[in-house]
Amino acid sequence: MKLNFKGLRALVTGAGKGIGRDTVKALHASGAKVVAVTRTSADLVSLAKECPGIEPVCVDLGDWEATEKALGGIGPVDLLVNNAAVALVQPFIESTKEVFDRSFKVNVRSVLQVSQIVAKGMISRGVPGSIVNVSSMVAYVTFPGLATYRVLSTHTFTGSTKGAITMLTKAMAMELGPHKIRVNSVNPTVVLTDMGKKVSANPDFSKKLKERHPLRKFAEVEDVVNSILFLLSDSSASTSGSGILVDAGYLAS
Ligand code: NDP
Repeated sequence: MKLNFKGLRALVTGAGKGIGRDTVKALHASGAKVVAVTRTSADLVSLAKECPGIEPVCVDLGDWEATEKALGGIGPVDLLVNNAAVALVQPFIESTKEVFDRSFKVNVRSVLQVSQIVAKGMISRGVPGSIVNVSSMVAYVTFPGLATYRVLSTHTFTGSTKGAITMLTKAMAMELGPHKIRVNSVNPTVVLTDMGKKVSANPDFSKKLKERHPLRKFAEVEDVVNSILFLLSDSSASTSGSGILVDAGYLAS
């Protein structure tokens, strides 16, 4: 998809690896100035070599004070991609406070915090904007019938945090809409990034899960990035509070 973001400044969280990294590259190639936010500085060094001119910010988005310090004065942003997340594995019955808190701090609270910073800037400048929250198919569904696989426990937290993102996306869309700021989500099935490989590490589970998708496949990083770019762009000018499933048909089954 060829979209032009020339003259716009974008901020992408979780920019070091996987979907976030390829989103930065696509936005950079489409003419946007990009602020790349992630936790591992080596990833930012290599990304800056691939995409000269990006603005790297190294911060743990699970830390409210550090995030405020790193991004509080970030300046004008027109496009925001809230992509950073963790997938921490613990069965529900053994879940700990620490893992619950970490999951919600990174996957939900940071979306609120970074979006607040960015949206306040958009409102005070009186400019339109677009925010995309990278959610997941597990915002809507578990993996029924595959319960014998321990990997299911991954979704205790991932699914709960992504379910929260569904309503946060709608609430933000309601409140920010009058300011011409659109807010949407993308909801992928498994994508074979570092995170996706962990989730589908059991080959038997992975094969069975793939077969449950009508298209008999998982999603590619590029498929997710294309949907993110579409929602960021004016091509989706009348879409807000919504989500694009990139799920190879899983939810139709
Ligand atoms: P990866 O684990 O491959 O990459 C995640 C990126 O986010 C890394 O660069 C990571 O940095 C960064 N990140 C994680 N935690 C923090 C933090 N606290 N502060 C700053 N940066 C952080 O994940 P994916 O690319 O696969 O996932 C991207 C998004 O897509 C997530 O929201 C995920 O939930 C969603 N998704 C992924 C699916 C999949 O199967 N892969 C399926 C459905 C949705 P570092 O490595 O340094 O920690």
